Amino acid sequence: MKKFISILLIFTIAETYSQQKTVVITANDLIKHVNYLTSPELKGRLSGSDGYNEASNYAANFFADLKLKPLLNNSFFQHLKVEYNEIKEPLNLSIYNGDELAELDLGKDFVCRGFTGSGDVKSDVVFCGYGLSLPEYDDYLDVNVEGKIVLIFKQNPSWKIEGLTSEMSYPRYKTNLAVRHGAKAVLFVSKPNDINPQEPIISVLHGPGEQPINTPQLHIDIPIADRILIGSGVNLKFLQTKIDSSKSPYSFDANSLAKVSVNAEYHKEKETQNVAAILEGCDPILKGEYVLVGAHLDHVGNQTNKLYAPGANDNASGSAAVLELARALSTDKSNVKRSIVFILFASEELGLVGSQFFAENLSVPAESITTMINLDCVGHGDSIQIGNGKSAPELWKIAKSLDELSARRMVNNTWAGGGADATPFHSIGIPALYFVTTNSYKYLHLPGDKVETLNFELLEDISNLAFLTIKKIAGGEYVRELIKQ
Ligand SMILES: [Zn+2]
Repeated sequence: MKKFISILLIFTIAETYSQQKTVVITANDLIKHVNYLTSPELKGRLSGSDGYNEASNYAANFFADLKLKPLLNNSFFQHLKVEYNEIKEPLNLSIYNGDELAELDLGKDFVCRGFTGSGDVKSDVVFCGYGLSLPEYDDYLDVNVEGKIVLIFKQNPSWKIEGLTSEMSYPRYKTNLAVRHGAKAVLFVSKPNDINPQEPIISVLHGPGEQPINTPQLHIDIPIADRILIGSGVNLKFLQTKIDSSKSPYSFDANSLAKVSVNAEYHKEKETQNVAAILEGCDPILKGEYVLVGAHLDHVGNQTNKLYAPGANDNASGSAAVLELARALSTDKSNVKRSIVFILFASEELGLVGSQFFAENLSVPAESITTMINLDCVGHGDSIQIGNGKSAPELWKIAKSLDELSARRMVNNTWAGGGADATPFHSIGIPALYFVTTNSYKYLHLPGDKVETLNFELLEDISNLAFLTIKKIAGGEYVRELIKQ
């Protein structure tokens, strides 16, 4: 009998949960957007490119078809200018094994840094540790890199050096420093002793400063660096261990030749745009309050015609969710009392440029914005995580209680301080939530971030949790809280 009751109980609970899981937004509809956004024609959606402009038009047309209004001056676009670099043919890296030239594979053995300069260089490779030059620690002190190619760690040491700042970890900073010492090209390599050394990822995060337009900058894979070092009798792991344990430089001519050709077209400023639409609330008073729902539409682009970053998870997934949220919320407007603004941000990959611009140029008073909901990398992994809960705990609790009644997939871990495109809004006092999935970053900025590697059910679940959360907030059931920093 006891057994029978517990079996009955399990059936009842299972049935209750399956009944309660809300599916207003379907994986099928989400994936259609992801398929389009990741298609080769859009070439990785780098802000400033034709591919990004096509993605923006697609989003604007979608909003128009839903009969949403443009947020700004009768246009769905909010224009801004961003730094831009186009990497064209030819693009080659070869290394010499003795007399034999070995041509390396783009996207596997190496990639360009997004803001690489151009150049044709054939020269000796000089290993220069972390590529830093400080009074207490100087990788360039005892080597001559004039006219040479330098091989340096992409990341900075985990131990302290007097005067070392976070800016000095950026590729642009390290490149400009190498150029000041006379180098003609830079090969970055990840620290091999890290637990998960970073693969050569496609990235446009380059840091501030002047663009070294005549200096090729590549990120090479660790085994390639070891092949370059073979003539010197040491490998990269040995070198990192030696430098880290002695906390002193160990730079030397690697006794190896490399040949680099890069052709990049640099624009200090190129026009791009955020895409924003508004669904007006139905309550005469509450419609003057706003819920912002955003995701970045851009990704890291292409490198010649041979390599592009599809960015299915990052962030076609979040963009698709925003589009389907717009459809779901405008289809059933009942109880949408506050106004909802849907935004697709440009240029997150350059360092939150589009969202920062939006937050600095608000068309409504910041105090009238009840909440900002950001969706970034919501399609890969296994659970739902909602960030910034430590800064906006009341808001976070709403999402958590809704998840309890629906897919029950949300973890308890959260953080403070915004995160990604939620940060500029958090910084001006707006309570924000950052929807993301756990273990999301396996293919981050890699060619493998494609539709086939997404978790469709998880993408559907997190989109529906966002729907329930937004519907509740827009329904007036949340009073803007004072955020914690
Ligand atoms: Zn990214």
